Amino acid sequence: MKKSFYDLSHSDLEMVLTQNNLNRSAAAILFNWHYKKKENTQCCEKIAKCSLAFIENNLDFSLPEIYTVSESKDRTVKFLFNLKDNHKIETVLIPFHNKYSICLSSQVGCAMNCSFCFTGEQGLKRNLNTSEIVGQFLQAWRWLMENRPGEERILNIVFMGQGEPLHNFDAVKKACEIFLSKYGASIGVQKITISTSGYIPGLKRWIKEILGVNLALSLHSPFEEKRNELIPINRKYPLHEVLTYIDKIPLSKKQFITYEYLLIKDFNDSAEDAKKLGTILAGKSAYINLIPFNSYPGSHYKRSNLDKIEKFKEILDNFKIPTLIRSAKGDDVLAACGQLNSTH
Ligand code: SF4
Repeated sequence: MKKSFYDLSHSDLEMVLTQNNLNRSAAAILFNWHYKKKENTQCCEKIAKCSLAFIENNLDFSLPEIYTVSESKDRTVKFLFNLKDNHKIETVLIPFHNKYSICLSSQVGCAMNCSFCFTGEQGLKRNLNTSEIVGQFLQAWRWLMENRPGEERILNIVFMGQGEPLHNFDAVKKACEIFLSKYGASIGVQKITISTSGYIPGLKRWIKEILGVNLALSLHSPFEEKRNELIPINRKYPLHEVLTYIDKIPLSKKQFITYEYLLIKDFNDSAEDAKKLGTILAGKSAYINLIPFNSYPGSHYKRSNLDKIEKFKEILDNFKIPTLIRSAKGDDVLAACGQLNSTH
């Protein structure tokens, strides 16, 4: 069976070529063709015939197929991809100032079973491989090229779609290597953010293997009891331990950890919640994203009122922690945070 080209980092590809007595310079040419120029034809530029024959016989260049596209009135785009085994995953393009952020999925479904999340209801079907992660980015780019010409500028990558990225560490790490590669997409290290629910085995690897990219923690409640309800793995990996591991992550001067906080009406939006949150994050290199809850069919939580959200932010401002209230995008096509579910 052919190996997917999109599963290989630049150095993996160089190794494959060298092991087969071929010129490793073809790796840079192929990376440039597929990731920089984003061509979907076969690359014939400056590659020796013997290398081309090897590439054709041994590497697969197919990508996940776009199954459906939903465009929101705010220009958010939600893709449903069909994978080779007919599993489906979702990816979201979020517009900002004529550019886009892309929200990638890392697993089919998710094992974490968070009570506020549509994906969690699916359970975990399987991990995505690197080519299926990188493929979401390339296919979304090509869709923009065809459907919104001149707008194919995806400048930020966030792993906040379906799945717990640190539960699929190897594939996510390799996808980041490919995105960051100077031979390929050359995305800046500060433009990639991986979001975790607090999966400690992944955080332990992060500390040792230093990905350099940004980390976001879905915090959602500073109180262990409430967090147990929202994020059941908090029982196994409690918040206070998660924060200890996060504190060990080396950060560059301008880097900070993002703490995501979903505001749910009459559950975690009181002044007491805000004060406790401020207390545990004060003094850290922290940035808080307040996300008004996006409801979905069957969800029993409700979005907090605007005045409560603003009051919550004021309290955090007193702790001098930079805090942003994030506006929901794409909620009319169920593309907003926590609304992804490819079985529906
Ligand atoms: S919020 Fe994230 S970690 Fe939790 S169930 Fe949903 S996809 Fe998984």
